[in-house]
Amino acid sequence: MAQGKDSLQQILDDVASAAFATPDRGRVADYIPELARVNPDQFAVAVARPGKKTMFAGDAHTPFSIQSVSKVFTLALALGKVGDRLWARVGREPSGQAFDSMILLEQEKGRPRNPFINAGAIVTTDTVLAGSSPRETLGSLLRFVRAAAGDDNIHINESVAQSEITTGHRNFALAHFLLSHGNLANAPDLVLGTYFHQCAIEMTCTQLANAGLFLVGDKAAPRLVSPDRIRRINALMMTCGHYDGSGDYAYRVGLPGKSGVGGGILTIVPGIASVAVWSPGLNNYGNSKLGTEAMQRFADMTGWSVFGSR
Ligand code: GLN
Repeated sequence: MAQGKDSLQQILDDVASAAFATPDRGRVADYIPELARVNPDQFAVAVARPGKKTMFAGDAHTPFSIQSVSKVFTLALALGKVGDRLWARVGREPSGQAFDSMILLEQEKGRPRNPFINAGAIVTTDTVLAGSSPRETLGSLLRFVRAAAGDDNIHINESVAQSEITTGHRNFALAHFLLSHGNLANAPDLVLGTYFHQCAIEMTCTQLANAGLFLVGDKAAPRLVSPDRIRRINALMMTCGHYDGSGDYAYRVGLPGKSGVGGGILTIVPGIASVAVWSPGLNNYGNSKLGTEAMQRFADMTGWSVFGSR
């Protein structure tokens, strides 16, 4: 990256102006009624680096629904709880299918392809839930996320969770299918109640960038998981974090990332930074349209792709 005190800030300002000036903002997720109400004109980007002040541009202090970005935190907790035994219940391969797809789950007898598609995340939530109540589980998850972000002002939006409880029929179908194959230890309504609340965690872009610092793998970052786990979680984010758009994100950005239908994306620059972007409009894969475009611009300008700079 170009040297100079303000160069990173200049890049963030440039990325934000380009995003605000883009007329085609994608489509806000409307299958969760509460998310359909979010204003698509918003955009934010924030960069957290171990031991340095977090930088941002745009609406970086507006909370948004992190949705599937939460699957990264649940995966870290599930691996912490059962270690590699998790892989007996969920795979580590990209699915090439939409996040809520059922087709491979049927072909592969109830073992989801990876922990970031919905079926796989329902299994990791079930793993974290085993032996405790949904309230305790969500308490541990919030504690983890708050410790990661160094910020106690992170909460669950109950209306968003309720909105999904009443409309999330496909997730109920996935959970029941998992149960029919013996791959769910808890009752589907308990697992999904926990899963929908975990998805309804709200964070600002600044908080999310800070919360990703534990995956950067730097000594000055919060040490919440081992270096070995950091490497593995990043590998899964790179290969599976954007569903059937994971190859596209790797091609365009070249960094491990995890998206959510709230329009947030958490991207890790191993050894350097944790970057969060947010713009509510989605592309055809259900990933933030402007967020993806912004990260492509950001990776080009910083030269931070793990595959080399230009
Ligand atoms: N809560 C959402 C769902 O289960 C999460 C999906 C997503 O962010 N891709 O449908």
